[in-house]
Amino acid sequence: MARFIFITGGVVSSLGKGLASAALGSLLQARGFSVRLRKLDPYLNVDPGTMSPFEHGEVFVTDDGAETDLDLGHYERFTGVAARKTDSVSSGRIYSNVLEKERRGDYLGKTIQVIPHVTNEIKDFIAIGEDEVDFMLCEIGGTVGDIEGLPFFEAIRQFSQDKPRGQCVFMHLTLLPYIKASGELKTKPTQHSVKELRSIGLAPDILVCRSEGPIPEKEREKLALFCNVRPDAVIAAQDLKSIYEAPLAYHREGMDQAVLDAFQISPAPKPDLSRWEDVYDRIHHAEGEVKVAIVGKYTQLEDAYKSIAEALTHGGMANRVKVKAEWIDAEIFESEDPAPHLEGFHAILVPGGFGERGTEGKIKAAEFARTRKVPYLGICLGMQMAVIEAARNIGSMPDAGSEEFDHEAGKKRFTPVVYHLKEWVQGNHKVERKVDDDKGGTMRLGAYDAVLGEGSRVAEIYGSTAIEERHRHRYEVDIKYRDALEKQGMLFSGMSPDGRLPEIVEVKDHPWFIGVQFHPELKSKPFAPHPLFADFVRAARDNSRLV
Ligand code: GLN
Repeated sequence: MARFIFITGGVVSSLGKGLASAALGSLLQARGFSVRLRKLDPYLNVDPGTMSPFEHGEVFVTDDGAETDLDLGHYERFTGVAARKTDSVSSGRIYSNVLEKERRGDYLGKTIQVIPHVTNEIKDFIAIGEDEVDFMLCEIGGTVGDIEGLPFFEAIRQFSQDKPRGQCVFMHLTLLPYIKASGELKTKPTQHSVKELRSIGLAPDILVCRSEGPIPEKEREKLALFCNVRPDAVIAAQDLKSIYEAPLAYHREGMDQAVLDAFQISPAPKPDLSRWEDVYDRIHHAEGEVKVAIVGKYTQLEDAYKSIAEALTHGGMANRVKVKAEWIDAEIFESEDPAPHLEGFHAILVPGGFGERGTEGKIKAAEFARTRKVPYLGICLGMQMAVIEAARNIGSMPDAGSEEFDHEAGKKRFTPVVYHLKEWVQGNHKVERKVDDDKGGTMRLGAYDAVLGEGSRVAEIYGSTAIEERHRHRYEVDIKYRDALEKQGMLFSGMSPDGRLPEIVEVKDHPWFIGVQFHPELKSKPFAPHPLFADFVRAARDNSRLV
């Protein structure tokens, strides 16, 4: 049976709870334990799939097709454990399950209440698959004291009581603000936060304190005394140059040791940190820098393309170069020539996106990359735009476009080179959709196989002709334009196993031009950079030596 670690946050939000959880997971793995990480989010949306990336950052997609919070991306990048549908839940989902059961009569007419019905639903969720791993790490979103969070805090309190003693440990993340005038790190907000936790029946075993610098002994003792934790369970989490330093930094601070002590696991198995030492070395000993332009729509919030930014960093690590990514708003190219904006970049990436706004600019970016022979990686919408560009400019279809934009505008203006897919095959069953289905969860989602053409560039990059990648889209490139485009040098080098859906296109006679219908960024890890990103950055590096 798994041991459970509950990670909560206090004082302010955005302290890096997800990172602390992910890093702890990787440290437990380094000591030979198996782990799974889970996120429990107090907001009322049923899933993050329909939440704006402007507000909430990217939607992370799992192999089994769940649209989840971006924290699951951190978990995967640090542990390499593929997240599942059952690793992320929101209050909205919990309540909707409870209400569905009530409608079905499952509660036999009883009065439905937060305690026990909602809390039971949460506890059942936490326990899913508990026999499969040594440690289950559950992060509670939000901050202690939030109204929405209360059922989750109550549920984890009950959960720890239901389990035998010593089976659950609580880790609380807080902030130690530095007051310049007095030159002091202040412990009071942390004391209040722990007090708040204790008032709802939870006592932290470990405190992780974010601070700009080290925590002086005096403050550490004070925190231990007032917050009722052991002094060696006060872990300083200082600002780091790269998030990938966190496992080594937190290990030096004693985080994993404190957790094992709290579970009374003794003697603690020795950690093998070689994976993270190699990552550290690659971050700190990069030779040179490449500049990549990311031409997209959600450029104000970097979290909107979190996995892409991380995958580029990993690609840099693979080549021992630093990748400097710059975000450019695609709409600019609708009124301005892209050349002066894009010259000077060593590669161009057009990421995924939804809706027509900015797409003509993305098409211009693809044209620039194709004709100027700049390395280009088009992801999902970025592939669709590259195909439309080729259809218009070399395939003699000046009105090529996507049905997505015609649907949005309510009129027909384009030849649908990219069309709305209404039925497809997943494994051995058929999936069907209508244009006006609900917005939530109606896309081609999750892992699908693709077959790569023998001798194609992508087959060489992957070192295989059979791959599996994650999808999240409604529209597809229409296979009927394949011959026309291939004649002009755009190869359809990856296809769905039934040969109906184009998965990858690449331009012949170009240093590096690849469009993929899936999201390779979701599977990249610092210790295992995704082959497409590693080779894209290599092409950018080679190009940087020419420019
Ligand atoms: N909007 C496009 C589609 O639904 C692309 C989606 C994406 O880039 N993730 O097919």
